[in-house]
Amino acid sequence: MFQLTLRRRGISDQAVLRTMEEVPREVFVELRDRADAYRDSALAIACGQTISQPFVVAYMTEQLQLQKGHRVLEIGTGSGYQAAILSRLSKQVLTIERYRTLAEGARKRLEKLGYFNIEVLVGDGFDVPAGAGDFDRIMVTAAMEQIPDALIRRLEPGGILIAPVGPHQAVQTLVRVVRTGSGFDRKELVDVRFVPALPGIAREL
Ligand code: SAH
Repeated sequence: MFQLTLRRRGISDQAVLRTMEEVPREVFVELRDRADAYRDSALAIACGQTISQPFVVAYMTEQLQLQKGHRVLEIGTGSGYQAAILSRLSKQVLTIERYRTLAEGARKRLEKLGYFNIEVLVGDGFDVPAGAGDFDRIMVTAAMEQIPDALIRRLEPGGILIAPVGPHQAVQTLVRVVRTGSGFDRKELVDVRFVPALPGIAREL
């Protein structure tokens, strides 16, 4: 059923569909929502944040055209679900979350499931540590009013970034940026709604 819904909505990449089928979303949602884990809707998680709708997870993943050798950066760990999906299709995932509570929860969940190629970092996605290096793929899962140049510059040549861009508390547009030989290609994809990307590490837990 889950795969069928995603297919019907236009997801066609077999590897993405298979991964969506393999990663148990019920482990990433709140206990009270387990029965709804495979419905195509976003759900509330701790710290006033949300786990994205499965279609949006699949769509953004498909747009990244991941390969097994890729190093991936995710900004906005939340539950860790999107990081889990990315990790099955790449070599290594670094995911950054500004809420310690969410980061620790995600880390435990991912370890339990045996997804060992994911590093969860408490930090600010607007200020990715230089020591983390550059990335083949970058996915932002919180709405940015604009994509910082410093973030785009973390793409390796040929790299792809995808991010929801637009005003907070309103509709945003998914934007895909490809680093080409001569510069950057930017394309607007579809409208989405994400929780805002906020600067700094969250003061509350
Ligand atoms: N990808 C997540 C859902 C993301 S919700 C999942 O699969 O469950 C967006 C997340 O981005 C929230 O947890 C929010 O706290 C985080 N976030 C917002 N601004 C951030 C920033 N500057 N740096 C890191 N994380 C941020």
